[in-house]
Amino acid sequence: MSLGWLALARGTLDRVAERRRDEDWVTAAWAGSYVLVVDERGRVPVRLSERPELAFTSARRAPAGERVLLGVDEDKNAYFAVVAPLPEQEGVEVSDLRRIGALLNDLESSLVTHAVAMAAWHSTHRHCPRCGAPTKTVAAGHVRVCPEDGMEQYPRLDPAVIMLVVDDEDRALLARGASWPERRASVLAGFMEPGESLEQGVMREVREEVGLVVEDVRYLGSQPWPLPQSLMLGFTCRAAGVQELRLEESEIADARWYDREELRAAVLAGELVLPGKVSIARQLLEHWHGGELPGSWGL
Ligand SMILES: [Zn+2]
Repeated sequence: MSLGWLALARGTLDRVAERRRDEDWVTAAWAGSYVLVVDERGRVPVRLSERPELAFTSARRAPAGERVLLGVDEDKNAYFAVVAPLPEQEGVEVSDLRRIGALLNDLESSLVTHAVAMAAWHSTHRHCPRCGAPTKTVAAGHVRVCPEDGMEQYPRLDPAVIMLVVDDEDRALLARGASWPERRASVLAGFMEPGESLEQGVMREVREEVGLVVEDVRYLGSQPWPLPQSLMLGFTCRAAGVQELRLEESEIADARWYDREELRAAVLAGELVLPGKVSIARQLLEHWHGGELPGSWGL
């Protein structure tokens, strides 16, 4: 069984990749487009009503900055991101993906997820990795090319595995990261290393962080996490038999097993704060729990 709803994996936009190098098409699309300004920290302008909505601007009013063609919706409206400081607009607030990613509609959630990823990439990849020359942007914001040696850079993605570990009694392991506030807890996660499979990455991370040998690694779903450039790949796995937890102290402050009732009670009592709805971590926990857990929509 796979994960159901994922806040940042609800995209319905046609990314029209085949149009990105068609400059006439891109110019015409830009003129009539909805523009989302996103700053280098991934912040975006929103209107806060009953539920937040992105505050788009027109091409005519958009500030100067890197332009990225995001795509075209079902009604053929084009959407662009512009990476620039956010302009002051009346009735408009500044927000970010963590706060609004789960609350936006499907289209806007996918737009902001893509825009934030592209802003992070452009702001940190201005030079050629081979020769250090400043690069220029082509393909409607999707490729950076070196004018000296022609090397092309594409948006970078860091795959990360995130896994719910269960034991033979179907209890779930929750851990607190060494740098997290008291009471915060989540499932384990870590970046993939070159030369390993996803399953090997899951087994290695669990062993490194809490000293457990796991098996039965199963993929459940994925979502982008452009903070700044991760792709979260969600798994479940099982620690067979009775095994001692050995925590990697530089990374994990605390870890323990919970059955469903214990977890629910701990959250309701305020002893435990779980990740927000925007995260795949929470969806892994709710998938195991068999329904919604109490607690936050925010982070
Ligand atoms: Zn170069």
